[in-house]
Amino acid sequence: MEVPFAMPDIDQQDKKGVADVLDSQWLTGGQKTVEFEKKFAEYIGVKYAVAVNSCTAALHLAMRALNIGQGDEVIVPTMTFAATANAPIFCGAKPVFADIDEKTFNISPESVKERITSKTRAIIPVHIAGQPCELREILQIAMDHNLFVVEDCAHSLGATYQGFQTGRLSVAGCFSFYASKNITTGGEGGMITTNDGELAKYVRLMRTHCATKGVWERNQSASWEYDIVDLGYNYRMSEMAASLGISQLKRVDQMNERRAEVSEYYTERLRDISGIITPKLAENRTSSYHLYIIRVVEKKFGMSRDELFKGLAEVGIECSVHYKPLHMMSFYSQKYGYKVGDYPVAERVYSEILSLPLFSKMSDEQVEYVVEQIEGLVK
Ligand SMILES: *Cc1c(COP(=O)(O)O)cnc(C)c1O
Repeated sequence: MEVPFAMPDIDQQDKKGVADVLDSQWLTGGQKTVEFEKKFAEYIGVKYAVAVNSCTAALHLAMRALNIGQGDEVIVPTMTFAATANAPIFCGAKPVFADIDEKTFNISPESVKERITSKTRAIIPVHIAGQPCELREILQIAMDHNLFVVEDCAHSLGATYQGFQTGRLSVAGCFSFYASKNITTGGEGGMITTNDGELAKYVRLMRTHCATKGVWERNQSASWEYDIVDLGYNYRMSEMAASLGISQLKRVDQMNERRAEVSEYYTERLRDISGIITPKLAENRTSSYHLYIIRVVEKKFGMSRDELFKGLAEVGIECSVHYKPLHMMSFYSQKYGYKVGDYPVAERVYSEILSLPLFSKMSDEQVEYVVEQIEGLVK
């Protein structure tokens, strides 16, 4: 049996929506994007949502809108995807890594406090695997030190913290609709959520070259004239992508429900195996179950993480690792002087973590197969 690591979940309705756009006259910057933004904002519970073409673009625009630049520092967890740290770098700021919590793999509020300097301007926490981070504590630290919090919600669409969707309580939430994420807009896509009208207005301008009028508005007003008011980008979402986003968003809770079911089954079957530590959900939050990350304790399990990865690959099961800490990557260590040993918790966790296949279209047989193969490898 072949079990891929992740797979998009596209149905007939999704396809029809995209085909309808292709049959229309308007392929980008039109009404599907406006509708997707409106529905997304309603789902998260914020006033504004601005669609862009990736979460990386969303993070970049959030940094730009907060005027983060040369000489500034932004605190991000070391165990995350490169985009979280790169957004401040695009603006000339320095990413300052924080260590993680051993149980949840999320950014450690204690470590954040230790890294604050007079140059710190913002914190970008990530809700790893779909489990919300200690957001209240992070928001409190930010308030005490006059910092912005921008949430990297790439994993957490549908997850809640104290009853609130992620991407609602901070100044901006950044979501990803990349092919493997909880919903996709056709491979690439992203969204910024905010309650700040000025920020929404600014990112809306910046996603389309900071031109005062988009083609749609010019078309509506029968006037060609526009101004360029700042350095902008082409970070627009296409109408095909937005149409797919609208229909995928309708099914997000249902798809997350299946992810939860698979995750719970994994835990039930794997938690008693010596040397395997299954993920635990902290209090007062729900997960979007984006990833299922186990820890493989070599001494007890009798096999290292890498050996288990290889053993599963040999029987057709594709796993992954989220993430190799960024301070261990050559770019960040060469540019900023980070080195192995700087973040002991992240390094210890990294050496043992393995992400098992998890996606909403996963069949019971596939889940059973993964569990049986792991059991079969126990010595
Ligand atoms: C996927 C991901 C991103 C980047 O999303 P894109 O839409 O691919 O740009 C950022 N942060 C995290 C944590 C991610 O997993």
